Amino acid sequence: MGFDWSYTLGLLANKDFWHATLTVIELSVAAWILGIVFGLFLALGQRSKIWAVSKACGVYIWFFRSLPLLVLLVFIYNVPQMWQASSVILSSPFISGLIALTLSEAAYIAEIHRGGLSAVPNGQVEAGKALGIKYLGIQRLIVIPQAIRVALPALGNEYITIVKLTSLVSVISLAEILLVGQRLYTQNFLVMETLLGVAFYYVLIVTVFDWLIKSFERKIDVSRRKPGLLENNESIPAESVAVAMRKHLDVEHKGAFALQAKNIHKAYGDHEVLKGIDLDVGWGEVVSIIGPSGSGKTTFIRTLNGLESLDQGEVNLLGEPFLKDHTLTPDSAEYKQRIVHIGMVFQSFNLFPHKTVLENVMLAPLYHGLGDKLASKLTALAMLDKVGMKAHANKYPHQLSGGQQQRVAIARALAMEPSVVLFDEPTSALDPELVNEVLKVMEQLAQEGLTMVIVTHEMSFAFKVSNKVVFMENGHVVVSGTPQALLSMNHERLDAFMHRHDD
Ligand code: ADP
Ligand code: MG
Repeated sequence: MGFDWSYTLGLLANKDFWHATLTVIELSVAAWILGIVFGLFLALGQRSKIWAVSKACGVYIWFFRSLPLLVLLVFIYNVPQMWQASSVILSSPFISGLIALTLSEAAYIAEIHRGGLSAVPNGQVEAGKALGIKYLGIQRLIVIPQAIRVALPALGNEYITIVKLTSLVSVISLAEILLVGQRLYTQNFLVMETLLGVAFYYVLIVTVFDWLIKSFERKIDVSRRKPGLLENNESIPAESVAVAMRKHLDVEHKGAFALQAKNIHKAYGDHEVLKGIDLDVGWGEVVSIIGPSGSGKTTFIRTLNGLESLDQGEVNLLGEPFLKDHTLTPDSAEYKQRIVHIGMVFQSFNLFPHKTVLENVMLAPLYHGLGDKLASKLTALAMLDKVGMKAHANKYPHQLSGGQQQRVAIARALAMEPSVVLFDEPTSALDPELVNEVLKVMEQLAQEGLTMVIVTHEMSFAFKVSNKVVFMENGHVVVSGTPQALLSMNHERLDAFMHRHDD
């Protein structure tokens, strides 16, 4: 018996098949989207610090990944036998199929999201925290958009899996492609010819959607974008620059000190890294912290804005309690209210790679509602202008040099109009020839009266711009004072350290 080609070709115009194709598309797209959303919650839940939440999500993923979809499908379709009321929705094979597919796929997709989420560097979360953005905001604005980009190829692949899994729903008599085919060949016995038609429809769906998903992937891939130029009409009125600058320098000088740390202790396990550090930072003062590697400078500056927890001691900001051992932590209302007054610039910049320079700078002011979109944009452009980066406002971070990225990071901190800005070795990750462009910006900010705490290895810079230099070693402040006082002191340890740096 030959192969009935004309019958097979005829199937391509079969209305039932096209109808079934639509059903499969609806079912697979709905299950995919619901699975992505539900799976994301599962993945976030699994990373939660709350033990019960993390455990519950883990158990869900384990269970539904182990259960064959077919078993789940038949089970859900038959739930109305035990529980009559559920027949209102579960008697529809489409809905039963959708529920089973979503429950099962969410478990698989959660694992895909887990990969995406853990690919986002911790520095991204820290940059968000330092800008005063809360957990949900950090996830929504910073982590999830990056994680999804990483996960998208695998998510696209999972869509194809779902399309093929929909054929299982035929067992609960959903009129999908396979069932339409089965009904035909049980009447005409043209099994091969019919299955070829069935294959055509599946391949068609997968091909079209694979193409759609890949184009979406390309569309959101910022590394493919051309560097954007600032349009002329985006020039900013001079007065808005002046207003923005005044706002961030005219902070009400509450309290005797802008920032005060008292008796800070911090240990990692048995390793005591900070052994009782005190620091007073007056208004408009520039304090530089110097010292050998491993002396605890980074740990100390991170305790000042709550990125590291305190074991003992307290931090006051603008004359008010901000952080205190275990009693006033980053979970407190006082902290959340005051964190916006303290900005931070990191060694590794930690710009948000999926946002343009302008969007990086506008993100926190918009999140905190400091102004409407236009006002935030004007402030952001003013700050970018200040650090010499306005012309690059529409570029993405990867399109900039390290020095340029760090200047944008400074503008991002300034846009929140902070009273104090912390810098942790802002030039250590830069090529030597790029160090000066960042130091120049910082020097200018110092001259304008911005209160700054700077951890640095740039000795001549520290002694030139600082009101006070603090020399730390081994978790202690060894000596501190004005640059003149320190230079004329003949302090043995300090001189030895400085000499090493001169070489
Ligand atoms: P510095 O910035 O002066 O070079 P750090 O504050 O980075 O010093 O580190 C001080 C000490 O604390 C080092 O010995 C370092 O190994 C240790 N340390 C820093 N962070 C951690 C951490 N998260 N867990 C354990 N030890 C840490
Ligand atoms: Mg350090």
